[in-house]
Amino acid sequence: MSAKIIDGKAFAATVREKVGAHVARLKEEHGITPGLAVVLVGEDPASQVYVRSKGKMTVEVGMASFEHKLDVNTSESDLLALIAQLNADPKVHGILVQLPLPSHLDSDLVMNSIDPAKDVDGFHISNVGLLGTGQKSMVPCTPLGCLMMLRDHHGSLSGMNAVVIGRSNIVGKPMANLLLGDSCTVTIAHSRTRDLPGVVRQADIVVAAVGRPEMVVGDWIKPGATVIDVGINRIDKPEGGTRLVGDAHFDSCAAVAGAITPVPGGVGPMTIACLLANTITACCRANGLAEPEGLTA
Ligand code: NDP
Repeated sequence: MSAKIIDGKAFAATVREKVGAHVARLKEEHGITPGLAVVLVGEDPASQVYVRSKGKMTVEVGMASFEHKLDVNTSESDLLALIAQLNADPKVHGILVQLPLPSHLDSDLVMNSIDPAKDVDGFHISNVGLLGTGQKSMVPCTPLGCLMMLRDHHGSLSGMNAVVIGRSNIVGKPMANLLLGDSCTVTIAHSRTRDLPGVVRQADIVVAAVGRPEMVVGDWIKPGATVIDVGINRIDKPEGGTRLVGDAHFDSCAAVAGAITPVPGGVGPMTIACLLANTITACCRANGLAEPEGLTA
């Protein structure tokens, strides 16, 4: 293996430290405690785990955490009423509605009912538009985490060829916009892309956000390229039990790449750290205060 391992777990800890220091300053100098409200509808086990760990880390950095757990049968109007209440609450600077929502709820409608200034997931259509037009926005947490790691590793990304595999609204599209904002030449690949291995071989930066275990193999990687693996896939182990793998085949990619993020311990921890970063950014903007350096795009 020749690639440098980009340690997302360690990097996320430094981001949380920065956030914590800024929270302490906001409390001390301005008497403001940043607050994050997380809304969970239903009892999806994975979502429950995410919400629990978001709440724990929110408190660890000194912010206020407001958890709202609603019954799976909650009506759209009740959910919208709660969001309106959180939009109006001055103690709440960030609002996150955990996805996926039960199928009777319209996710787009719900996301677009959040005050864009408190939309720490960056999914509100206003924030999507602001990001797409290169204006100050709330940036989706997973791509923001990927960007932070890329900037940390490379310094400037200007002029690099980046291939993003995946065109979802949550990861692929905002990632491509962020890379474009940093002056990469960006290609977005997806399930209809012809000759995906040939497209990926052109890339100095590969971001894999596909949801297919170990699909990207070393033979596709240009020597020295940086591989950011967003995928989280649970697969069966031959000896029984399961393990987590990314969308890139780690060993074969690491043999060719210049740098690579592992799964677990790469992009995943950065996602929650960026949620906290977005909350402090939202809090500073709401209070007309300077934003902390290096915590947003
Ligand atoms: P989606 O399912 O919404 O999107 C997957 C994308 O991959 C689609 O654009 C799809 O193309 C494309 N795709 C599927 N199959 C292929 C293929 N064979 N070749 C090329 N492209 C393909 O997934 P998400 O973007 O939400 O998530 C992607 C991965 O990232 C998942 O593993 C998810 O678990 C993980 N994830 C991790 C996070 C973290 O914090 N680390 C956060 C969010 C997601 P098409 O549009 O043509 O169908």
